[in-house]
Amino acid sequence: MNPYTSLWTGVTPGDGPQNFHVVLLDNGRSSILARHTERQTLRCIRCAACQNTCPVYRQTGGHAYGSVYGGPIGAILTPQLMHMEHAQTLPFASSLCAACYEVCPVKINIPEVLIELRAQVVNLERKQTARAFDLMYIGMRIANSIFASAWRFRLAQRMGRIGLRLFTSKDGWIHALPSLGARWTMTRDLRGLPDQTFRDWWASRPKEKP
Ligand code: SF4
Repeated sequence: MNPYTSLWTGVTPGDGPQNFHVVLLDNGRSSILARHTERQTLRCIRCAACQNTCPVYRQTGGHAYGSVYGGPIGAILTPQLMHMEHAQTLPFASSLCAACYEVCPVKINIPEVLIELRAQVVNLERKQTARAFDLMYIGMRIANSIFASAWRFRLAQRMGRIGLRLFTSKDGWIHALPSLGARWTMTRDLRGLPDQTFRDWWASRPKEKP
């Protein structure tokens, strides 16, 4: 008997429950079933033997796994139930010592599933890095063209100042920016730009006579 398994009696006229309702939640399990290596995860009876034997789980405890499933079974089940982006460190929470496989009463080959999931994480990260690299490349090309010309630099400065002024509060600070800028203002405020740039001040200063 384990904490995840309950036994119910059936319906008996005049004794016990008169109705019995079973609600089945798929929660992504059909897609796990369709995958050749990962489908064995669904054999788990939640006995927790793999948790108790796992050297990683014994050091980190259950909260580190970020879901109700901790230990080796959590490391393979959670990334499959959630989107991988939200649990992509979990397949690496293992030394691959295979102690979990040895104790598992239903013989789930957890190390095999872990390795399969690690391959998926690597592919995902490759795509994420490629996307980030594309954005960075475009950003650098634009910056290169702006910095290469004095008038383009002045124009970009002016447009940036006009744009930022729209978001500057009366107290002189920017508390919320849209789009990518929101990632900055989500955690900290940004000081608004001064009325005069250094270039403007330099051009307007009284010239010394030679
Ligand atoms: S030992 Fe096997 S059956 Fe028990 S919780 Fe771990 S994966 Fe599930």
